[in-house]
Amino acid sequence: MSVLVVGASAAGLSTVEALRRAGHDGPVTVLGDEPHPPYDRPPLSKKVLAGEWEPDRVRLRTDEVLAGLDAEFVLGDAAVSLDAANRTARTASGRELGAERIVLATGVRPRTLPGHEELAGVHVLRTVEDSLALRAELRPGARLVVVGEGVLGSEIAATARAAGLHVTLTGPLPTPMAGQLGPLVGGRLAALHAERGVELRLGHGVTGFTGQDRVTGVRLDSGDELPADVVVVAVGAVPNTGWLAGSGLRLDDGVVCDSRCRAAPGIYAVGDVCRWFDERTNSLLRLENRTHATEQAGVVAANVLGADRAYSPIPFFWTDQYDVKIQVHGTVRPAADAEVVDGDLADGRFVVRYREDGRTTGVLGWNMPKQTRLRRQEIVEAAAAAPAR
Ligand SMILES: Cc1cc2nc3c(=O)[nH]c(=O)nc-3n(C[C@H](O)[C@H](O)[C@H](O)COP(=O)(O)OP(=O)(O)OC[C@H]3O[C@@H](n4cnc5c(N)ncnc54)[C@H](O)[C@@H]3O)c2cc1C
Repeated sequence: MSVLVVGASAAGLSTVEALRRAGHDGPVTVLGDEPHPPYDRPPLSKKVLAGEWEPDRVRLRTDEVLAGLDAEFVLGDAAVSLDAANRTARTASGRELGAERIVLATGVRPRTLPGHEELAGVHVLRTVEDSLALRAELRPGARLVVVGEGVLGSEIAATARAAGLHVTLTGPLPTPMAGQLGPLVGGRLAALHAERGVELRLGHGVTGFTGQDRVTGVRLDSGDELPADVVVVAVGAVPNTGWLAGSGLRLDDGVVCDSRCRAAPGIYAVGDVCRWFDERTNSLLRLENRTHATEQAGVVAANVLGADRAYSPIPFFWTDQYDVKIQVHGTVRPAADAEVVDGDLADGRFVVRYREDGRTTGVLGWNMPKQTRLRRQEIVEAAAAAPAR
């Protein structure tokens, strides 16, 4: 059986590896629009952006290991359309790639703001090129405005501050990562960034940029202007599904799939682009995190090979900001009851448990990895005890 994987990054590569591990020895083709072999994105806002790693360190596998997969990697060529019935993809260069099974792993791209593209000095961060372009502008003493108080914006603010820039973090929510972690941990993060010298201008939307050819500032809905030499826009991401328009697949904030991560007969989706029906929460979910890309790929590969496995993970993500490692297991909703259950908020080492309707739904560790892992068991037990909701 032949398999075509579209998207040559974490989820696509993990799918190929899982197929081979499971003993699949049929032809596998991987199509990727980036010219690079698969690489890892988390270091792009951390070690690479900080200048501590050169870009070759983000490669996910050596040439030798890739060759061992016995897959054909077609790189630097984007899929532009899909004929789902005939399971054939067309590419920008005119290739036509057909296979008995197709796995869609095209990820997401950064959301932008109006006026953004016209101005030099305004950046986004998704690719290795983005990271290097931003890094080249992170000169000590320069004024950086980070638009977006989510996980990526918060990480970039931390990295840039540590590199000696004057950093202002802005966004509509009251604290960094308030939308992901709620007010308790959000408040602790706000204090951390403030202690390290980041200026927080939160609770404001951005209405535009100032500058002629190059950005000179960011305008807020309060009427204030934040002066800037460099700006990063980190306001979320959009699934790369444009090329699937007209394919007949259901597209709605990602490729909509059943609980088996199947979008149509013989067609599956995996990673950031996949919005699948999660049986545990009884809802459509789309996750953007690194562990999920690999974990879901294992289930997708099994189903491609004929298994009938539902995918229902306990989500996990981490973020590194300054010397703080935050690890989050489970589903954390900002409105959940959050309580410190190990350590102390003031000490800089603690675990927070999130509960909804008296059930543990999530656990967050702040520089406390061992206890966090132990507490994860409470999520497993709560999920096992409760009917699917
Ligand atoms: C800067 C940064 C920092 C991050 N840090 C963390 C972190 O600390 N912790 C964490 O858990 N997660 C983190 N993430 C998220 C994590 O990297 C993603 O969840 C992961 O990369 C998802 O993998 P993916 O393969 O699904 O998608 P992607 O990595 O987006 O890969 C999709 C690939 O498909 C290609 N593609 C798109 N359209 C087409 C097309 N039409 N034809 C062919 N190819 C196409 C894309 O160019 C890309 O190469 C971070 C992400 C970024 C950008």
